[in-house]
Amino acid sequence: MDILDREGMSKIRSKNTKPELILRKALFAQGYRYRINDKKLPGKPDLVLPKYRTVIFMHGCYWHGHEGCKYFYIPKTNTEFWVNKISTNKERDSRNVEALLSAGWNVIIVWECMIAYTKEIGHVIGQIQKFLYSADTLCVNPQTLTIE
Ligand SMILES: [Zn+2]
Repeated sequence: MDILDREGMSKIRSKNTKPELILRKALFAQGYRYRINDKKLPGKPDLVLPKYRTVIFMHGCYWHGHEGCKYFYIPKTNTEFWVNKISTNKERDSRNVEALLSAGWNVIIVWECMIAYTKEIGHVIGQIQKFLYSADTLCVNPQTLTIE
């Protein structure tokens, strides 16, 4: 693995990455209150909004394998290793979502490219607001929302 890979990884791996902070601040400014990195819930969601029984994951496009995203690529070295690694991550992600839904949680997934590389935060917050509003007012089964 070369230096560039290592730097990229630590940046993506570390908690409180910048896009997550941007999202948190924007939600807070809209009056939403949340817990961070709840270890008791499947997949340790990045944000938990207990009032709306909703969790939010921010998925790094590389580690979680954002299909069709230009920030998701398989390195040319150790290709097999990375293909396995990322598909393992994706399988774990969907297991976590299933577990949360069966426990009655709504699940929002925000792909990092929506915040990190664009100026889409207003659009992202708008979608989240709409989702939370209906989660709060309609008595429906737990839902998922993917923002990508
Ligand atoms: Zn992406």
